[in-house]
Amino acid sequence: MTKEEKERYEEPELLRDILQRTLAGKKFRLDCGHYVTWNHHLGNDVTIRNGNKLRIVCSLCSY
Ligand SMILES: [Zn+2]
Repeated sequence: MTKEEKERYEEPELLRDILQRTLAGKKFRLDCGHYVTWNHHLGNDVTIRNGNKLRIVCSLCSY
């Protein structure tokens, strides 16, 4: 990756901040049918399949 290419990427703290502010405490059913409560220490982990349309599943269904 060139220096210019590298500079187009934001830091992970910004991604975390965006997700945290948008999702804090919210509850969702995922594409796999399981559930997630954000910012809950017993909540499911989540995998985001990248692409034109994001597919969001729990970590157990991501394999
Ligand atoms: Zn699942």
